[in-house]
Amino acid sequence: MSDSRGAVDEIATTLEGMLPPERPIPLHAPVIGDLERETMADCLDSGFVSSVGEYVGRFERAVAEKMGVAHAIAVSNGTSALQVALALAGVGPGDLVIVPALSFVATANAVAHVGAGPYFVDSDPLDLGMSPASLTAALEAATRTPEGVFENVSGRRISAVVPMHTLGHAAQIESIVAIADEYGIPVVEDAAESLGTHVAERHTGNFGRLGIVSFNGNKIVTTGGGGIIVTDDPALAARARHLTTTAKRPHAWEFFHDEVAWNYRMPNINAALGVAQMAQLPEFLSRKRALAHRYRDAFADVDGVEVVWEPEGTTSNFWLNAIRLVDGGRDDRDRLLRITNDAQIQTRPMWNLLSGLPMFADAPRTELMVAHRLEDTTVCLPSSASLG
Ligand SMILES: *Cc1c(COP(=O)(O)O)cnc(C)c1O
Repeated sequence: MSDSRGAVDEIATTLEGMLPPERPIPLHAPVIGDLERETMADCLDSGFVSSVGEYVGRFERAVAEKMGVAHAIAVSNGTSALQVALALAGVGPGDLVIVPALSFVATANAVAHVGAGPYFVDSDPLDLGMSPASLTAALEAATRTPEGVFENVSGRRISAVVPMHTLGHAAQIESIVAIADEYGIPVVEDAAESLGTHVAERHTGNFGRLGIVSFNGNKIVTTGGGGIIVTDDPALAARARHLTTTAKRPHAWEFFHDEVAWNYRMPNINAALGVAQMAQLPEFLSRKRALAHRYRDAFADVDGVEVVWEPEGTTSNFWLNAIRLVDGGRDDRDRLLRITNDAQIQTRPMWNLLSGLPMFADAPRTELMVAHRLEDTTVCLPSSASLG
């Protein structure tokens, strides 16, 4: 006990010593400068602040180019992007969607918003993403028929797999896609946190049939609030655009809508902010990488702690830096959170596992041993690009 107390104290002291003296230090603050101000002013002057205007298209092209995808459709937030992407992948009421238990609540909420339910699987201890072995276990336990793959206890169809690139570190996406392909199940990538993250030369979010990114205020690039759907499939892209703009048939003056649809398009004013932010992404990425190296150096000689690092063969965006208390438990984690937050250094735990939230209490799940361990021992550190 006294040993782990000492270790936690040393971690806290190390953190306090390496960060700039100003307090408070937020977990993640956006970097907003002159370019953002000028671009926003230009958007306001144009009079086009809502769902019509040139910035939406410019933002979509900037993201599509960065990610190496053919099509990008900007929407109001990452959750709505994932909801639409799931619907387009063919997920419907009563289905099950395989998601990691260790994720932000939006991953499972989007599943519920299309009338389906989450099926929770375990995580990898190093990359924090969906465990391919756990995915295989879930699919091997199911029944395959010509109509699809069905979970045995509930008899519900498993209609999609949603891996997530946790804190900006790439999941083992190639293995995950290969496993899902074998069962004929589409992959929808939750790349909400991984703009700028690559596996070899390929950007995360474009391995699955569809992918999404979030531009919430705390993500690496922000539009205030926003999200984007990406795909290489032109038919899915056209459908995403149609369904997020009230399914209105193009016409000079008539209001003819051909199905029930959403009003999820990103407003022009948010896209203007996004255009300015995208121009700075290379700078954000290099500053975040520099900060990650500083954390790794600072903790190199501290016992009982490991900095979460980019998996081999991948390039992380280092959106949120995190440490793992190697020998510690949840009490040590909470003590570290208390000491650092009392010192006005905003640290945060990982999310509570989604499998433990009341609305998902009855959801099917595999063994979640690694996810529980990660939940108990991981602490996220201040990661604003301005610190790098
Ligand atoms: C941020 C985030 C989302 C989407 O969030 P919005 O706030 O709706 O933009 C989805 N999944 C994960 C893992 C996220 O971190």
